[in-house]
Amino acid sequence: MARGKVVIATGIPGVGKTTVCKEAEAQARAEGVKLSVLNYGDVMVEIMEKRGLLVHRDKLRKMDMATQKVLQAEAAAKLAKAVKAAEGHVIIDTHMVVRTPFGYLPGLPKHVLEALKPDLLVLIEADPEEIAARRVKDLEAGERLRDERRIEELREELMFSRMVASACSVLTGAPVAIIKNPAGGQREAGRKLLELIKG
Ligand code: AMP
Ligand code: MG
Repeated sequence: MARGKVVIATGIPGVGKTTVCKEAEAQARAEGVKLSVLNYGDVMVEIMEKRGLLVHRDKLRKMDMATQKVLQAEAAAKLAKAVKAAEGHVIIDTHMVVRTPFGYLPGLPKHVLEALKPDLLVLIEADPEEIAARRVKDLEAGERLRDERRIEELREELMFSRMVASACSVLTGAPVAIIKNPAGGQREAGRKLLELIKG
């Protein structure tokens, strides 16, 4: 089968990115479209595990910058291999920017883009008020150690993600699509994502 599309799906923590990707995957399966989702954070955690280091996914972004960059590059190489081996379309679930204590780390620096060769860049967005509410919910559920942020900071992170997306678009020639994921809208957002991939 001809190589499918490589889609990089991004969104700030709590936007519902993973949920929307899974939705697209389920709908693709129902339609008989080959599509798999790879999660960048999962691969980083796996690399640490192989070294005997157990790190919670939400602690990765607090590690020293040198370690994060090494892990980022190693994960890109692993993901590039997985993309090559995949049949059909691949969505990579990741971030335009990672908010670290040292500043915004680009999730897709030039070398990562060159390894992954995306055909499409997607920004999944929601209102900052909804993102804040989801982060609190995730924290209370104990699944994620989401950083609580003021609405103003979430706005900044959303804006910065768009700016970095435009840089990634210029570097790769891949278009950027923005998909809104309002409360209760994950099915519709997943459908839109799948339509973009098929189109
Ligand atoms: P997530 O589950 O998508 O929130 O990802 C968990 C963590 O993985 C993030 O908070 C980052 O620390 C790390 N991560 C994911 N994607 C990248 C990337 N492209 N570059 C650097 N770190 C990443
Ligand atoms: Mg996620």
